[in-house]
Amino acid sequence: MNLVLLGAPGAGKGTQGALLAGRIGAHKLATGDLLREAVRAGSELGRRAKSYMDAGELVPDALILDLVRDTLAQGDSDPKAIFDGFPRTVPQAESLNAMLRELGTPLDGVVVIDVPEEKIVQRMSGRRTCSDCGRIYNLHTDPPAKRDVCDVCGGKLTQRMDDHEETVRHRLSVYREATEPLIAFYENSSIPVHRVDGDRSVEQVQSQILERLGR
Ligand code: AMP
Repeated sequence: MNLVLLGAPGAGKGTQGALLAGRIGAHKLATGDLLREAVRAGSELGRRAKSYMDAGELVPDALILDLVRDTLAQGDSDPKAIFDGFPRTVPQAESLNAMLRELGTPLDGVVVIDVPEEKIVQRMSGRRTCSDCGRIYNLHTDPPAKRDVCDVCGGKLTQRMDDHEETVRHRLSVYREATEPLIAFYENSSIPVHRVDGDRSVEQVQSQILERLGR
C-alpha cells in the first residue's frame, strides 16, 4: 500500500507510521527523519535545510522533492511506502502523484490524524527522541522507565530543538496555512481520505487506522 499520513506536527504520524509499516509490510518514508539525518551527517542538503528546520519553517519544495525522488530511486523494486511528513504543500502533493504515476504505483489512501492544537503543544513539550535508535517517547503519556534513557537501546533521550513551545506554535501556523489545504486537495481527488481521532492512546489510534484501511 502507498499511503500518505497527514496531520499537524506532533499528531503522532511518526509513531503511527512506524507501527503501521511493521503491520502492513511497507517501509516508512519520513522526510523529517531524512532531513535530520542529513543535518547530522553534515551533507550539502543538511546544511541548506538546517536553518529552516530550526525556525520551524518548511524546507523549500525543490530540496524536498530531490530528496524524495532520490530515496524512492534507491528503494527496492517494490516502491510501496508510508509517507510521513510528506507532502506538506500542494505542489509537493502534485509532484508525488506524478512520481508515483511514473513508478506505476498510485496512492492507495490518505490517513488524516486529528488532534486539537492545545493537546499538540502539550504533547510536543514532552516529546523526547532516542539519539541512537530514534524511538520516540512522551514524558506525559509514554515515558521511559528511567528518565532520559531509552528503554530499547539505553541511548540518551533528547528534545528536538524545534519542539520548544514558541517554535511549536509557529509550526502549527505553518501547518494550518500550507499543509491543511492538502486534506481538501485529496478529498477532491479520487484517492480515499480516512480521518481518525488522534486524541486517543497509541493503540486506539492504530486500531482506528487499521479499521479504516479494512485491515
Ligand atoms: P517533521 O519531523 O516531519 O516534523 O519535520 C521536521 C522539519 O523538517 C519541519 O518542521 C520542516 O522544517 C522540515 N520538513 C520535513 N518534511 C518536510 C516537507 N515535506 N516539506 C518541507 N519541509 C519539511
